[in-house]
Amino acid sequence: MRETETAAERINCTANTMAGILEKFQSLGKGNGVRALKDMSHGLTVIRAVPYVYTVCRKKSACDYCLHRKEKLLRCSQCKVARYCNAHCQREAWQSHKRECKCLRSTLPNVPTDSVRLVGKIIFKMLQNPDATSEELYTISDLQSHIKEASEEVQDGLRHLATALQLYLKEEIQDISQLPPGFQAIEYFGKVTCNSFTISDGEMQDVGVGLYPSMSLLNHSCDPNCVIVFEGTCLLLRTVKEIPKGEELTISYIDVKMPTQGRRDQLQRQYSFTCDCHRCLIRDKDEDMLAGDADTSREVERSVSRLEELLSQNKAEEALNLCKTLMNRYYLPDKNIHQLKVLDCAMDACINLGLWEEALQFGLQTLEPYSLYYSNYHPVRAVQLMKVGKLQNYQGLFTEATKTLMQAFDIMKVTHGRDHNQTQQLAELLNDCEANMRGM
Ligand SMILES: [Zn+2]
Ligand SMILES: [Zn+2]
Ligand SMILES: [Zn+2]
Repeated sequence: MRETETAAERINCTANTMAGILEKFQSLGKGNGVRALKDMSHGLTVIRAVPYVYTVCRKKSACDYCLHRKEKLLRCSQCKVARYCNAHCQREAWQSHKRECKCLRSTLPNVPTDSVRLVGKIIFKMLQNPDATSEELYTISDLQSHIKEASEEVQDGLRHLATALQLYLKEEIQDISQLPPGFQAIEYFGKVTCNSFTISDGEMQDVGVGLYPSMSLLNHSCDPNCVIVFEGTCLLLRTVKEIPKGEELTISYIDVKMPTQGRRDQLQRQYSFTCDCHRCLIRDKDEDMLAGDADTSREVERSVSRLEELLSQNKAEEALNLCKTLMNRYYLPDKNIHQLKVLDCAMDACINLGLWEEALQFGLQTLEPYSLYYSNYHPVRAVQLMKVGKLQNYQGLFTEATKTLMQAFDIMKVTHGRDHNQTQQLAELLNDCEANMRGM
């Protein structure tokens, strides 16, 4: 692996140079795709893309402008919905917030869903910038909506969203003539459903959702050669394998820690296609993921959503109790994905409650399954290792912590790159840890 990545080597693509590195092509059986115009090594930033539009996740306490998670945020004094880190973020956001602010205020105390807010932003952006000449490979109007293939149930859902949008926008848009020419709300909700990217922060927590039209050309694989990480709202497309000239670039649209049938169902439901990648064809690791007694596995699976709900409501003690009940009542191997989820929730609950030793025990149990399911270079595994390494460091286990954090670093310099602030935080942590070790 190459240790350094010089500025010249890093293909920091803006829209204009994208065509020099990547090209759009017809991928066999998959429609549009993107392939490499030159050999690429792993650990490269291929594209650094800014969103066409984005919005913060309604349920997260994060800044509407920079998506930084924070407990205390300043509210927009007019709509009381948008929240910001400080006056700077608020000022920067105003241009794109101005028109939606009136709409947000008019529907209080109701707050629109993320997708309604996102489509609202698309409309305002199109009106503000109607004939922006784009040098991107793909634009917002090129995006596929797949509404024709959608089931009746999905179409109903889209119609429902279109109605919600109309109500939301009524302050600013009263009739069709005020919409961008030819704008069809249902079609745009279809586009958002299958083209939006969930924006995650350094800890892999979902904080927002955005559209990056050219990135929608990337096809899915359950064993992709690229990953997507974010720096604020900026999307980085990074290579995690060597990619020879002419090869298609792929990403994973979904969490791959799911058995083949589950992945295929989700891809079909959300993106209207059936994955036939190598992993799906051989049903790779399905047996591991569902290891243990099938009824027990289903029983635990049923409790997982309750667990996640408790954690999202900050009910850590209740969540931990439920984890312990499940672990005492049922036996499943750690590599069973539902059991793994319970372990993850138990670790998070313990961290919330300051039970460091217990948190570490649960965290350590997750590492082997994580390396099984997130083989190669995967940002989720790097972040998990970092979390465990931090706990070890905190408890004075400096030798173990150094080892764990080094593993995290080896992955993160490929998945995030050395310049990424998450990698830099990790490097600092490693330094502290090594200093602590010398001082022992
Ligand atoms: Zn901010
Ligand atoms: Zn506002
Ligand atoms: Zn697949």
